Amino acid sequence: AKKNGKNQAIFCSEDMKEDVQKRMLLSNALHQALERNELFLQYQPQVRVSSQEIIGFEALIRWKHPEFGIISPAVFIPIAEESGLINRIGEWVLLTACAQNKEWQDRGFKPVQMAVNLSVKQFQSGYLDSIVKSALEKTGLTPRYLELEITEGIVMKESKYVIKSLHALKDLGVSISIDDFGTEFSSLSRLKDLPVDRIKIDMKFIQEIAVNSKDEAVIAVMIYLAKRLGLKIIAEGVETEVQLAFLKDEGCDEIQGYYYYKPLSANEINRGILDLLIK
Ligand code: C2E
Ligand code: CA
Ligand code: CA
Ligand code: CA
Repeated sequence: AKKNGKNQAIFCSEDMKEDVQKRMLLSNALHQALERNELFLQYQPQVRVSSQEIIGFEALIRWKHPEFGIISPAVFIPIAEESGLINRIGEWVLLTACAQNKEWQDRGFKPVQMAVNLSVKQFQSGYLDSIVKSALEKTGLTPRYLELEITEGIVMKESKYVIKSLHALKDLGVSISIDDFGTEFSSLSRLKDLPVDRIKIDMKFIQEIAVNSKDEAVIAVMIYLAKRLGLKIIAEGVETEVQLAFLKDEGCDEIQGYYYYKPLSANEINRGILDLLIK
């Protein structure tokens, strides 16, 4: 509504003005955040239930602002996308996550995949594949240990350039996963044509387990479909024993969620759980 023209401003509430001011403030601060090392990554372990092993991590960005404290990516990623800064931030995330994964492997831990989230703006830049290639080369990480996450919404818009980029990325040897899967129902039939390796069941569905049997039915179908198409599947946002039991029962053996681990700093992982990764 903000973009509906000049006259619209007259109808802006104080709240909205404050909102715009806050966004501008954050947008300016975000420009400095990279140089000032205020951005950092946390890593949320992904677990194979049957063997209780860690099979991968998802890198999640955080911003520690000197005054405002920790700011959620749900707040600042959209701002970074608007200002175009997301390309530099995204490149930093790729480099940092790949370097971290390589470091853990060099220390002798079982190699696992590191998943990195991509913004649609990174696809629009036209040189995403060369950014990814150079992150792999600079860090020495073997491509198959990098997984790129793209939301279902982005893929299903089916912009030609997104599909083309996905093929170019697959050619580098990295894996592709579809994030927030199930939120755009149209995708079920198109999934078979996409160069993807894995789908992530959106947390919204997981929260309906033992609450809404229709959502349970949709989850069961997603798991079935992934199997029939030869795709891997992981459930995100698993918090309870009941959710876990349902997923196990339906044949989804890979889990990411607070039930096992919250996102952790590299230090916390170094101190605590890396023994789970020892060969
Ligand atoms: P997402 O990719 O869907 O990431 C999953 C979100 O769910 C994360 O929130 C994670 O901390 C949270 N989560 C995981 N397990 C549980 C659980 O059991 N319960 C609950 N309640 N939440 C859980 P987070 O870290 O706040 O990230 C929010 C979103 O910000 C991400 O959603 C992603 O879209 C975006 N994001 C994060 N890091 C990056 C990045 O490096 N680049 C880009 N482009 N986007 C990012
Ligand atoms: Ca994600
Ligand atoms: Ca997700
Ligand atoms: Ca999400």
